[in-house]
Amino acid sequence: MGKAKVFSTHPLFEEARAILDADCEVEYWARPERPTSQEVFQRVKDKEGLICLLTDRVGDDLLRAAPKLRIVANVAVGYDNVDVASCTKRGVVATNTPGVLDETTADFAWALMMAISRRLVEGDAYARSGNWKGWNLDQFCGTDVWGKTLGIIGLGRIGRAFARRAAGFKMHVLYNSTKRAPEEIERELNAEYRDLNALLAESDFVSLHVPLNSETRGLLDAPKFFRMKPTAFVINTARGPVIDEAALVHALEAGKIAGAALDVFEQEPFIHPGLKRPNVVMAPHMGSASVETRSKMAAMAAHNVAALFRGQRPPNMLNPEALQSA
Ligand code: NAP
Repeated sequence: MGKAKVFSTHPLFEEARAILDADCEVEYWARPERPTSQEVFQRVKDKEGLICLLTDRVGDDLLRAAPKLRIVANVAVGYDNVDVASCTKRGVVATNTPGVLDETTADFAWALMMAISRRLVEGDAYARSGNWKGWNLDQFCGTDVWGKTLGIIGLGRIGRAFARRAAGFKMHVLYNSTKRAPEEIERELNAEYRDLNALLAESDFVSLHVPLNSETRGLLDAPKFFRMKPTAFVINTARGPVIDEAALVHALEAGKIAGAALDVFEQEPFIHPGLKRPNVVMAPHMGSASVETRSKMAAMAAHNVAALFRGQRPPNMLNPEALQSA
């Protein structure tokens, strides 16, 4: 039997390529720009495996056009770009990359929180501008992070990693999640459960760590911003559509909240022009972007694909039932 044919929408990294080499014949997308959906359709139609990024939409139409496909390996923990139900229906295994990016993404969410509260980006621009005339008592005064109340929405892997960082900053940690965390986790994180409205009303910083799904789309909307303190900041490293962006812009303009730090946007790479203001810090979806972590994510996706074609269970299946229906 020959090697399984796989299309990867990215060249990946050395380690991932080496993992795939033994069992798969991989066609790698090599151009610097992302492939269009037509280009993905074209390349995947005779393939048994697809390795994709969160910018690649894997819907039923694509699955239908690729009847030999047996696995879709997303190089991301979030999988809102993949129609997992259709994968299952068609006996296609879908996998993601949980766990390897928790600390890196939590670090980045923390960096965003520090940057917006301490006006780091404004200060950096000013320092570079040549206009700085020297230290002054009231120059670039921001808001303290230490000692404040931190509200975490979604106490999963990344939410917990984010919460752990709060201890060093002597913060009071609140959280909301679909269910209460076990008591030992609450104790370890020194975190108290709140319903969403109470969390929004009490927090100085609200950080989002939920997946994007039908429940969380537009989770922070106009009425929710209304509940927040006018001195509070929102940090989003989850997915853009978890925030109603127009409502966020309105809340910022009306002074309903003090600012926002965003790694993700509703319609990436488009950025709502109303967000380009001094009390918003923005990043181009780079929460997991460290060399170490991105390499691990790619290797994890490669392991999932290689395992399936070796006749083993891929370790990170989102729909193990697809194996039965295959
Ligand atoms: P996770 O371990 O599944 O954690 C998500 C948490 O959110 C779970 O505890 C989940 O509860 C909770 N949740 C789900 N729906 C909720 C709701 N409506 N209200 C409150 N809590 C809710 O996922 P993770 O690995 O921490 O990743 C979280 C998300 O971060 C990913 O899905 C991805 O979109 C995003 N992310 C972004 C970047 C970036 O580069 N910016 C990097 C990595 C991840 P249940 O388990 O009970 O459902």
